Amino acid sequence: VARVSDPTEQLRAKGLRVTSVRVAVLEAVRQRPHEGVDKIMATVAARLGSVSKQAVYDALEALVGALIVRRIEPAGRPALYEARVGDNHHHIVCRSCGAVDDVDCAVGGAPCLEPSQTHGFVVDEAEVTYWGLCPDCQHAEAAVSGSNAKGNRP
Ligand SMILES: [Zn+2]
Ligand SMILES: [Zn+2]
Repeated sequence: VARVSDPTEQLRAKGLRVTSVRVAVLEAVRQRPHEGVDKIMATVAARLGSVSKQAVYDALEALVGALIVRRIEPAGRPALYEARVGDNHHHIVCRSCGAVDDVDCAVGGAPCLEPSQTHGFVVDEAEVTYWGLCPDCQHAEAAVSGSNAKGNRP
């Protein structure tokens, strides 16, 4: 529900100062989830005219700190940002092109994975990343191996 509220109101509700960069960054993350800071910066710059990478980083830090935006960091990839927060959902990542999609929590509660040993920690999140090949990359692989099999590559 919070995801569809007005960005300005959402910032205020979390006690954040409303700035044009923060609003534009939040809207960019909502429009295109699972993008890195470079793409977010391009979206924000297209809207505001120009913006520094540091300003975008600062806005993202504030939004992540206020739990309005979630940062995910699949191994070996730059950090990605999304506005779907607080539902303990997971991600599936394409090994080939890096496409990322949401996977709902396997059970529905947070955390959905019960650790066999908590070492006294209080667990509030279980982060799971599924890795594989997205449909586009599967088709691309099938096309390549298909033409190899026929031996008709130039
Ligand atoms: Zn792919
Ligand atoms: Zn997600």
